[in-house]
Amino acid sequence: MRIIDVIIKKRDKKELSKEEIDFFIKAYTRGDVPDYQASAWAMAVLLNGMTVQEMTDLTMAMANSGDTLDLTGVVDLVVDKHSTGGVGDKTTLAVEPIVTACGLPMGKMSGHGLGFSGGTLDKMESIPGYRTDLSSEEFLQQLKTVGIVLTGQTGDLAPADGKMYALRDVTGTVPSLPLIASSIMSKKIAAGAQRILLDVKIGSGAFMRTLEDARQLAEIMVNIGKLAGRQTAALLSDMNQPLGFAVGNILEVKEAIETLQGGGPEDFRGHVMEVVEQLLLLGGAAEDESSARQMAQDAISSGKAFAQFKKLVEAQGGDVSYIENPDKFPAAEFIETVTAERGGYLSGIEAQAFGEMAVQLGAGRLEKGDPIDHTVGIVVHRKVGDKISAGDALFTIHANSRESLAEARQPLVEAHSWSDTPVEALPLFYGLVK
Ligand code: URA
Repeated sequence: MRIIDVIIKKRDKKELSKEEIDFFIKAYTRGDVPDYQASAWAMAVLLNGMTVQEMTDLTMAMANSGDTLDLTGVVDLVVDKHSTGGVGDKTTLAVEPIVTACGLPMGKMSGHGLGFSGGTLDKMESIPGYRTDLSSEEFLQQLKTVGIVLTGQTGDLAPADGKMYALRDVTGTVPSLPLIASSIMSKKIAAGAQRILLDVKIGSGAFMRTLEDARQLAEIMVNIGKLAGRQTAALLSDMNQPLGFAVGNILEVKEAIETLQGGGPEDFRGHVMEVVEQLLLLGGAAEDESSARQMAQDAISSGKAFAQFKKLVEAQGGDVSYIENPDKFPAAEFIETVTAERGGYLSGIEAQAFGEMAVQLGAGRLEKGDPIDHTVGIVVHRKVGDKISAGDALFTIHANSRESLAEARQPLVEAHSWSDTPVEALPLFYGLVK
């Protein structure tokens, strides 16, 4: 078998066999397929799609490309969550502490930014000293003794995804249903959690633009999870505007801290509460939705959830003084608030434009291995449906050069759309797939 033939077959819209997929993934993981061939293959998959059988085979080939963790005997039951990626999506930073404060252990492997969507690891790495490179042994040990872990994919778990993820980020091959499904499910399966909640985002700041596509992605991932013996559910959630207010690493960490302390933006709080509720139900920690919600609220108001966040940061070597006093975080040099030139009702905030601009400012990567500037980003001050008067603050840019600040202003203004008549607020969720 030759790699070029596997690429050509996909280019010509034919179905790959399990043997061909296994061959490609094994060779790529070993380092025998150069990035240019892997990129060509990924682009062929993006353009021509895959059958459900191919997606399942691809996921299992990637999950088996390295070690798989067996969590039985470490803790009784572990739940995990994963988002398909969005703008301002700091959900994990708030959800993990709340869920673990409610008594369910969580061990999660997250990713760096992907395309215009921010990465949980980039956010956590804003905290000085915080390690996102735990080994499998460290992951298991911390899960057992601390009950909460938030780290990167260890090199030996689903290494095929680790390599493919970084490649897709810089080759325009992110928004592909088969590549997203296999990326997410391979690492969830390899990381060993018995119950998995997927947060499938829909809209202008998501890789799935329509409810139909998002539902299809959710159904495929839920099925793959079930085939692998994991109880899996997927929330369909809105990503037509940035989630919460903050977009950018330190800015988002601060917003997550506020939320854990009982504040934070209303939409983000609502989103977090629903994700927590579903995880508590999935993990059997709550009997019904209202008791799940009450448990989550108690975890926040008692201070236990915030204490869990500190415990997590401390366990992974982070400097807790930044969490206790977020003003200690460094700030960008140029901070400017842009105001509305007109009044009216806000009918749209193009989330992708905010995600892309955050990357442009330095919050994400344009090329593989680019360094991240944790201080930069954008804070929106308004949400779709808000009534606004001319002169009201619309958003604040945090930049580290005058040029990047100036370049950000106009595209972000244009990312807003207006109506003269009242506009409904966007829903947070569109359903649950189980
Ligand atoms: N999250 C992942 O882990 N992979 C993707 O492809 C998209 C979001």
